[in-house]
Amino acid sequence: MENPTIIAGPCSAESREQLQQVVAQLADIPNISMIRAGVWKPRTRPGGFEGLGEPALGWMQELQKEYGKPFCCEVARPEHVELCARHGITNVWLGARTTANPFMVEELCETLRGSKMQVMVKNPMNPDVRLWLGAIERLLQCGITVTAAIHRGFSMYDNHGYRNEPLWEVPMELHRRLPDLPLLCDPSHIAGDDSLVATVAKAAMQLDFDGLMVEVHPHPADALTDATQQLTPQALATLIATLPGHTATGYTDGPALDLLRDKIDALDHELIQLLGNRMAVSRQIAEVKRQAGMSVYQPKRWEAVLTDRLKQAEGLALDQAFVKEILEKIHGESVRVQMEE
Ligand code: PEP
Ligand code: MN
Repeated sequence: MENPTIIAGPCSAESREQLQQVVAQLADIPNISMIRAGVWKPRTRPGGFEGLGEPALGWMQELQKEYGKPFCCEVARPEHVELCARHGITNVWLGARTTANPFMVEELCETLRGSKMQVMVKNPMNPDVRLWLGAIERLLQCGITVTAAIHRGFSMYDNHGYRNEPLWEVPMELHRRLPDLPLLCDPSHIAGDDSLVATVAKAAMQLDFDGLMVEVHPHPADALTDATQQLTPQALATLIATLPGHTATGYTDGPALDLLRDKIDALDHELIQLLGNRMAVSRQIAEVKRQAGMSVYQPKRWEAVLTDRLKQAEGLALDQAFVKEILEKIHGESVRVQMEE
């Protein structure tokens, strides 16, 4: 994509000066279409800064007029929507905790119905594409304008370097189901650390996301929320300047790519055929086990299969965790098929 949409601004609105400083600095950066600022902050544990509420909306309204750039913020309750509307803030988003809760989404739908609010929807905390899709569908069914889905990663018990795991396959699946809805990436909440934000943002661009929502603060170290992950406006300008550009998409990208895609297609067809063959053997095994009075699941055999296949995968330099996950899925399906017989 040539010109990604960029939404940038502080995690939280902290004072009029902070907002003004950030808007003034962002005004010079091309492609910034909107300024974000959290007004009500969902905190994981009690006792932290919970946002300034209505006074912040008043400053946002003034700055919106002064700089000609719309502001957006998170809404989680019907009264948040009403306050935003009263202050001319017509771009809002549903946060990850809200998207995960259909009751809250329905309450917001009722308040948003018939308004001119434009709504973006972050993914739910957990990697459930149906929950994300469900929130968007609820809004659309109420005639509400949904302008984008925002990928902010997933909260896991065990994460690997990022604050929220990207699990890119989830937003890719959302995009497959809703191809016309712009898809933005929030690299700040995925990364959790300013040094990783650019890496995540670049990955999103490689995956053809339509834009980014990035947390930017004039003095990140002093931020009242998410201090470790916010960029300075200068760092954002550098990031935007170094984003990879995409122009070619689709199936007409030249003979070299077409040839490789033909190979991928053939290999995928082979993989599916092999899975079919394997499940056919599982059905035969079910019969043999039944006649021998054996149980379907044989832990020792499964252990031996796993060890053997992982050793083979190692020789091919395949990622062990990836291969293990696939084998577990195949084995699970094989067990299910055998139970069916
Ligand atoms: C935020 O954008 O500051 C925020 C709280 O986001 P999320 O809902 O993605 O956690
Ligand atoms: Mn934040």
